Amino acid sequence: MGWPSLGRNEAIRWIEVIDGSVGLLLEGGSGGKQSRLHPARLATRLREEKRSAARIILVALEQKSLTRLADAEIDGKRHHVLAFKDNGDEFRLYLDSKTKLPAEVEIMEDDPLEGDSKFTLHYADWRKVDGLIFPFNLRCELNGKPLQEEQIKSVRNNVPLGPDTFSVPEPIRNEKADAKPIASQWLLRRVAGNVSYQDLGRNPPVEFVQLAEGVYQIQGTSHNTVIIEMRDHLVAVEGPLYEERSYPVIKAVKERFPNKPIRYVIPTHHHLDHAGGIRGYMAEGAIVVAPFIATQFYASVAKAPHTLRPDSLQRNGRAVVIESYGGGRRILTDGSREIDIYPLPTSHAEDLQVIYLPREKILIEADHVSPRKGQVRPAPLVKEFVQGIDKLGLDVTTVAGIHGDTADIQAVRAAAKGEER
Ligand SMILES: [Zn+2]
Repeated sequence: MGWPSLGRNEAIRWIEVIDGSVGLLLEGGSGGKQSRLHPARLATRLREEKRSAARIILVALEQKSLTRLADAEIDGKRHHVLAFKDNGDEFRLYLDSKTKLPAEVEIMEDDPLEGDSKFTLHYADWRKVDGLIFPFNLRCELNGKPLQEEQIKSVRNNVPLGPDTFSVPEPIRNEKADAKPIASQWLLRRVAGNVSYQDLGRNPPVEFVQLAEGVYQIQGTSHNTVIIEMRDHLVAVEGPLYEERSYPVIKAVKERFPNKPIRYVIPTHHHLDHAGGIRGYMAEGAIVVAPFIATQFYASVAKAPHTLRPDSLQRNGRAVVIESYGGGRRILTDGSREIDIYPLPTSHAEDLQVIYLPREKILIEADHVSPRKGQVRPAPLVKEFVQGIDKLGLDVTTVAGIHGDTADIQAVRAAAKGEER
């Protein structure tokens, strides 16, 4: 499977103003909604600022930990390599041995799915502006896969700025920072996709909402987990976000069902935010149930070393079992309750699975319906989803979202039609 796509195509507009250790976010551009920049978003920007071509050499020179590593070859060219640690992040700076210009800077950091990762910024297209040389092309990669590319059109030096340029209104400046300042490329990808990162560095509640006897939607943050109680074990649908979410959810589940291990975990699809916490369930010994096409993906997630920030699976080193299936549904049963898992490839994700409870007529889904207080917003994906479940011939009463809550099937069908008008 390829690199997770965001599955969205929309224009996003925002302005970030950073004044020292305070940030302001203007969503929708100037005149847009104002709020204090999330501490993790601020920390991430400040870390990126250190990698700016104008600063990186100075930042490196300030470091006590600065060392020179062996030269390395990039694209057939010899590079000098400098390394230093800053705020717990390991930086590696590559200088072209001929031009002596910085070629790239790597930050080594943990990724929920990929484990120990190289988050690289490449500088290219150096041009002179008023006697100073700047890279006009900036390219970010995560483990060699492209994340973002920036082509600069023009650079002006020493532009006079008014006193208000970087002003942050007093009420926003005085707000307390209420999340951990975690610098992370994960957050940058969430911002670029215009999807929630608000709970990063926070401890959102773990709320059990009962959908039917023995069926619980665990709410409290942007992504739910659904727990299904079987005779002598539990089945978890989705291990979303990251370890920091899986840990409190699993802890709460264990408290509620002390004698029932989580035997299976069923991820709805491979996207970063939906599968990012699955290793926590793997560490519990849960078997991953996935369609054939996603087997390799979950196998590599299970194997990825997490030495930079060891998670529960890195620490307990458990062997992970992945049960893949194809050519129809996969049934889990304890002789009384039945869980049917169906592959439902859509334009959002080719490895999408839906989880159907035939007795309760509940269908668990991600990213297509996402009900909010029982309401469903019309969208082409809702229509595609309804066509998919009709093709499978499922008798559904309630759709339970990994996002949001639940909706009656009538509301889902109405939203599917709403898009046709
Ligand atoms: Zn998705």
